[in-house]
Amino acid sequence: MKAVVYKEPFKVAVEQVEDPRIQDPTDALVRITSTAICGSDLHMYEGRTAAEAGIVFGHENMGIVEEVGQGVAGVKPGDRVSMPFNVACGFCRNCLAGRTAFCLTVNPGFAGGAYGYVSMGPYGGGQAEYLRVPFADFNCLRLPPGTEHEDDFAMLADIFPTGYHATELAQVSPGETVVVSGAGPVGLMAAYSALLRGASKVFVIDKVPSRLALAEQIGAIPVDYSKVDAVEQITEQTDGDGADKGIDAVGYQATAQEGEEQPAVVLNSLVKAVRPTGMLGVVGLYVPSDPGAPNEDAAHGRLLFNIGEFWEKGLRMATGQANVKAYNQQLRDLIIAGRASPSFVVSKRLPLEDAPDAYRRFDKREDGYSKVVLQP
Ligand code: NAD
Ligand code: ZN
Repeated sequence: MKAVVYKEPFKVAVEQVEDPRIQDPTDALVRITSTAICGSDLHMYEGRTAAEAGIVFGHENMGIVEEVGQGVAGVKPGDRVSMPFNVACGFCRNCLAGRTAFCLTVNPGFAGGAYGYVSMGPYGGGQAEYLRVPFADFNCLRLPPGTEHEDDFAMLADIFPTGYHATELAQVSPGETVVVSGAGPVGLMAAYSALLRGASKVFVIDKVPSRLALAEQIGAIPVDYSKVDAVEQITEQTDGDGADKGIDAVGYQATAQEGEEQPAVVLNSLVKAVRPTGMLGVVGLYVPSDPGAPNEDAAHGRLLFNIGEFWEKGLRMATGQANVKAYNQQLRDLIIAGRASPSFVVSKRLPLEDAPDAYRRFDKREDGYSKVVLQP
């Protein structure tokens, strides 16, 4: 089959690879109809990880079940399904508690599994014609048949639940003010989710005009950090108190990219922008190792976090990969009911063959490349 294969930093290619097949009775084989490129893919694409040449990328997958193993009862060939980016077993302690991003079975010795992701287990990615889905009864979410809402449903594998998770980590409640760092697809979904949850004011910080425009389009307040002092602006617009809650949807890549020495800057500015006793939800990714980091500490995931100010303000923080399965059914049903339409972030639907160019442009945050869905 054809698949998006990682070659070297800043280079992917569409190549023929071996077809995946049913390996365990609990597996399904899915023919991919939509698979999106994610900011998380850029960590590998830009060479910030130990990803080896030859791996197939793609963890934001949906499609049609082609074949199921003998032990699969919940889905059958022909079913339209979305797969959470987390590969999870459904029966370990963490899965039973709903923390499927931290499944203890699928990737022993590491926190959780994912498709097409370095260090997240031996699971091939779905930027390809077919995908093997382990524990298919647990990892397939059934969707209504047909092709309606394809772009909306394509956001259910990762960024819509991840944005929602950010608001859950920060415990966003009706009437609260929220500041989101990053207007990438994840930050926009976090802002959208905060508004769905009834936030009174949502600030979104970035410097890419087309992304800030999308934030404004959904009713958030865009803050361009290249033009104004974001913390000052937010403090002023919250009667001098700071926002109730803060969300980091940038993570570690922010400053690594800009060549600065201090990769925790986003988190530190959230500590300043949130009022005393507020809460931070951190979904932007911080990695325990980065071969290309600007300094030795950053290379080992040791970043300068301002614990002093964080402690003094009595802030709380929650972090980590999103437990997609905890929210994907409810978010699917909001889409079906016409109450949510996360596809506003999707700027392009392209054939799989266009992946190399799409990666290049998404990586540069070019206008019109806020979220790309590939169609094998
Ligand atoms: P992205 O790279 O497209 O978005 C990041 C945005 O942050 C960009 O628009 C960039 O302009 C902006 N930015 C950079 N520096 C900034 C700064 N100093 N202040 C404010 N904004 C700044 O990626 P994305 O797809 O939106 O993903 C965002 C992060 O979320 C990534 O780290 C990704 O790995 C992570 N992620 C986490 C999960 C999870 O489960 N926790 C899931 C998906 C993605
Ligand atoms: Zn993703």
